[in-house]
Amino acid sequence: VDPDLINAAYIVAFVLFIVGLRMLRGPRTAVTGNYVAAVGMFIAVVATLLQDGVGDFGLIAVGLAVGTAIGIPSARSVKMTQVPQMVALFNGVGGGAVALISYAEFREAGGDIVLERLIPILFAAIIGSISFWGSNVAFAKLQELTKARPHIPAAVNGGLAAVVIGLAVAVAAGAELEWLFLAILILAGLLGVLAVFPIGGADMPVVISTLNAFTGLSAAAAGMALDNIALIVAGMLVGASGSILTKQMADAMNRSIGNVFFGGFGTGGSASAGPASDDGVDRTVRSTSAADVAIQLSYAERVVIVPGYGMAVAQAQRTVADLAADLEKRGVQVTYAIHPVAGRMPGHMNVLLAEADVPYEQLKEMEEANGEFARTDVSLVIGANDVTNPAARTVADSPIYGMPILDVDKSRSIIVLKRSMSSGFAGIDNPLFYGEKTALLFGDAKASVADVLSEMQNL
Ligand code: NDP
Repeated sequence: VDPDLINAAYIVAFVLFIVGLRMLRGPRTAVTGNYVAAVGMFIAVVATLLQDGVGDFGLIAVGLAVGTAIGIPSARSVKMTQVPQMVALFNGVGGGAVALISYAEFREAGGDIVLERLIPILFAAIIGSISFWGSNVAFAKLQELTKARPHIPAAVNGGLAAVVIGLAVAVAAGAELEWLFLAILILAGLLGVLAVFPIGGADMPVVISTLNAFTGLSAAAAGMALDNIALIVAGMLVGASGSILTKQMADAMNRSIGNVFFGGFGTGGSASAGPASDDGVDRTVRSTSAADVAIQLSYAERVVIVPGYGMAVAQAQRTVADLAADLEKRGVQVTYAIHPVAGRMPGHMNVLLAEADVPYEQLKEMEEANGEFARTDVSLVIGANDVTNPAARTVADSPIYGMPILDVDKSRSIIVLKRSMSSGFAGIDNPLFYGEKTALLFGDAKASVADVLSEMQNL
């Protein structure tokens, strides 16, 4: 097929990628945006297959069949709360593919590659391998297959990185030996494992987003080696958007990227999990009933709903939306305060609430919401914990110290829906629960909200 035709198809695909990405900016257009980008990817794949000399179509068909057979059922059956690990896994596969492609290219050339191709091949091998192994460790951690958080001195990773770069320079300088290339792949993989292993708790999403950006960059490098524009553009789009997402998430947690990777945040989590009893703080909690909550809510003027991970676990979003609609009918003003890292993935709460047809105008981002807690009668905290923890403001040795939180404690009263006194993701106690203005309604969030709603309808 005429290369111009293929390039034209690629350009159409790029336009669709960019338009699709742009549509991901808001919940209203995100789903369509996904389809738009997917159509772009379909066009790019078909155009690539139409190129002269792509190779063995039988093998390609087998690869497509295997990938489809694994990809579609797992994407369909994955629970919303498990999406981060799934992203980690799929992202890792991308990095692994890039690393394997660069190895294949290196072998095929048989020690006779021009530098302009050899450098991107080496880059793709190193970054792809780091991304593959790092993503697998991230998956294992989020899936709770391992809770180990060994301390690895920065010098070890630094040394390893220096060796990998040294070997790559040796290969680029002319020592094009296959075993050296394999050593680069293996040591880069080890670096990926060692860099991600010590990172714990709440930093995992930032890690996954960083690795995602890495995969994009390695794919772009592979595109240079293979002289394929589609791979370069798509890889750079992933690299750039992944980098921006990483920065935004780190900002939301008030941490630098370097601090995420080398600071060991969240490593002390399990040791301080649950209410400690020996520090002299009064830890009595006031528990309340659905009937009392119903009365309090219906007499309020302003109610702010603060959803968190527990709402996702309980799948309570529709019941919550019904409760909010009932309150609005009674003249109560209801808004939702959305913390950027509430739940287990970026945009988690927005996705759930959109699914329950909550009007977008009712969703307030953290900064806007925080301005309004002081004049809020009741904050209804539904399965949120870390994102409301005032220790982030006051307790300097807390693992979440410095993370911006929703200032729920500033509202006139707070009702917290959760099942027990268990801690949230960061594994720490939350002083909000012991405050004078706070009452807890224990139970599964969906059942509790349904109880409150039926009590309210009986009023
Ligand atoms: P948390 O994880 O802090 O707390 C969730 C709370 O929900 C728990 O205290 C739990 O208490 C309660 N809960 C669990 N299941 C139910 C249920 N069925 N019914 C009622 N309550 C329930 O959630 P937040 O959303 O406040 O904070 C998110 C945390 O996750 C942050 O630390 C964030 O950094 C981290 N994180 C965020 C990601 C993101 O991108 N959004 C990704 C990965 C981590 P109990 O067991 O007593 O019911």
